[in-house]
Amino acid sequence: MAQQFVFDCPECDSVVAVGGEIRAEILEHGCVLCEAPASVGDFCRPSETDA
Ligand SMILES: [Zn+2]
Repeated sequence: MAQQFVFDCPECDSVVAVGGEIRAEILEHGCVLCEAPASVGDFCRPSETDA
């Protein structure tokens, strides 16, 4: 089961559900929409039920 993340862009306010590979790409290249730099804090894991 692939890890799912939600990217909440602080710049353009878009909220996008992404998998681990896309998350890595966003961290490296920035937001897919506005190309603003992203940090790990801009992602959350909605499917995470227990820490
Ligand atoms: Zn953006």
